[in-house]
Amino acid sequence: MSELISQLTNLAKITGAPESDLTIVAEGNIAVVEPGKDRFLVKASGVVMGAATDDDWVYLDLAKCSQLLVDAHKQGVSKKLDQAFDQILKSSTTAQGKVRKASIETMVHVVAFALMDATWSLHTHPTPVVALAASKDAAKHYSGTVFPDEAVVCGPVPLFLPYESPGLALGLGVYKGVLKYQKKYERSPGQIILGNHGLCTFGSVSNEALSTTQIAVKAAKVRVGALSSGGINFIPKKDAEAIAFRPDELLRRKMLAEQKKR
Ligand SMILES: [Zn+2]
Repeated sequence: MSELISQLTNLAKITGAPESDLTIVAEGNIAVVEPGKDRFLVKASGVVMGAATDDDWVYLDLAKCSQLLVDAHKQGVSKKLDQAFDQILKSSTTAQGKVRKASIETMVHVVAFALMDATWSLHTHPTPVVALAASKDAAKHYSGTVFPDEAVVCGPVPLFLPYESPGLALGLGVYKGVLKYQKKYERSPGQIILGNHGLCTFGSVSNEALSTTQIAVKAAKVRVGALSSGGINFIPKKDAEAIAFRPDELLRRKMLAEQKKR
């Protein structure tokens, strides 16, 4: 178990390094499902990613958090559900049993674990992604992919979601967005762009979530560059889908994931 916590801390250090430009101050967070258990670890509230230690991760019950999202989906966000969510966050504990409040962005990770089969979930605020996500035509800028590796690693179509307040409302927005995306594309999104906010990526190992973030950031920079050079020319949708699902690309992706496990 401490191995999983060490992996979280290592990923936080890489993610929070100034040269990565993914998070500053207490921005962003990471979560991971504990193998074989119905609980996950997430960053405690207020922790600076690059300065995170092994004591900065708290456990939360996955079933309880998922149920709260299902309830919010049925009834909408209410004061009662907001309070129940706050209670869950406040009662989380570290591996040493110390009570520490979990990140308010926890529900974004719960969606990844409950709906998308991910076991690692990384949420950051990379400057080029936020710049695009805060632009007037953000949805348009994220209506396709801009180079082959973006389609392969991040999926052929990004999921862009309009702004929601951090907390249960944000979680519900992501929950609804992912359900709609899955219905439309019969797969889960590889990158989720949160309007005026940031980026979410996923994986079955920590490096998969990180490398997807790195490609998504490069793709954001390419979009910004393309916009300053006359506009974005997306890869045709059919071609993006073809490359994302090509057997040799699927094999390449599998091999990359295997190498990262070693
Ligand atoms: Zn955030």
